[in-house]
Amino acid sequence: MMRIGRLILVLLMATVFAAAPRDARADAPAGLAVTGVRSWSAPASTRIVFDFSETVAPVMPDSGSAAQMVVRVSAPGIVPAAGVPLSLAVRDSAVDSVHVEFDPTGVRFTIVMPPGGTFRAFALPPSEDKPYRIVVDVTGANAQAAESRRLAAIAAAKRRDRVRLVYIDAGHGGDDSGARGPGGVLEKNVTLAVARNLADELNKVPGVRAMLTRDGDFFIPLRTRFKIAEQSRADLFISIHCNSSRRRGAGSGTEVFFLSLKGASDAADRDLADIENAADLVGGVPAQAEDDVVGVLYNVRRNSALERSQLLAEELLDHIAADRRVESRGIKQAGFAVLKSVEFPSVLVETAFINNPREVKLLKDPAFQKAMGKQLAAGVVSYFGKAGVQLGAPMDSSRGAAAPTAGGR
Ligand SMILES: [Zn+2]
Repeated sequence: MMRIGRLILVLLMATVFAAAPRDARADAPAGLAVTGVRSWSAPASTRIVFDFSETVAPVMPDSGSAAQMVVRVSAPGIVPAAGVPLSLAVRDSAVDSVHVEFDPTGVRFTIVMPPGGTFRAFALPPSEDKPYRIVVDVTGANAQAAESRRLAAIAAAKRRDRVRLVYIDAGHGGDDSGARGPGGVLEKNVTLAVARNLADELNKVPGVRAMLTRDGDFFIPLRTRFKIAEQSRADLFISIHCNSSRRRGAGSGTEVFFLSLKGASDAADRDLADIENAADLVGGVPAQAEDDVVGVLYNVRRNSALERSQLLAEELLDHIAADRRVESRGIKQAGFAVLKSVEFPSVLVETAFINNPREVKLLKDPAFQKAMGKQLAAGVVSYFGKAGVQLGAPMDSSRGAAAPTAGGR
């Protein structure tokens, strides 16, 4: 129902805009315009985004490796919107600079790269509050290998130090802001603040180490988020988000999700999963087939991960609910793409409603963010206890060796 409603709204708006004279639109320029030239630096890659007031037909290579990459848009009369930069000095490991040149026949974008990098370019249709965009992802030379080495080092340190590794995933990031609250509060910033607090708290617990999937403002595809944790040999995965009643009717409170294979607890939960899963559309990831992994061993692991995910969800919610400022909406199940690993228990925490006037005050308050980090950390420790995991004990009992139990740290 909600999706149909949204579709009708979009169609209505399109009709209104088509019928109205161009200059009736508030902020938009009178004609076709480039409305943004932006860059986001992640540790292993850089994303360049060009925004347009309308859909255009770019001529550009899909992918390649070169010292410079050119996007050409034939559109007589196209102009830059006010404030759009004609060059960007990015100067990170993947991109040197970006240049924009207008002429009477259109516009040409040039991305200058250090040697050895590779790029991938694609266009994204307008969606929600996002305009038509051309996205170029550039990966620096050897960046992928360096990232694999970094994750392998995390896994090795975990074994060496005999710690349980908890990955904390701050939802959204970069071009994908997530939900918005009044006064320009963005979900991507709240999730990162809570995630950092949770990591700090967990890193005080002997026998536990916490890592973040992103410790900065950049976009990570949903699948890459849990793949990072898998490559690091994580024991737990916790994704942090904020709810919004623009999506879910008037709402308040906190809820914790784990993966459902059969469908959502109810229609509203399915809508929420659809919206969180749309991060890849907003952030921009070309559609790809899911791994079709089958087999008895896979199913056993999946069921075991689901059981432990439920226990983790219960423990986290119990501890958040101890803070009486936010009511508990309960444990739920839905098909969140970010929870699809079978390697470890994983849950998604919808901390509170970012567009609820009372709760947004909490969400942007550093003291509340810290308190929530503490409560979630206590929930993780409680989970380990109930799951029979001895913190500081030898890591890999499956090897059969009687490793010394003393010590820890
Ligand atoms: Zn979210």
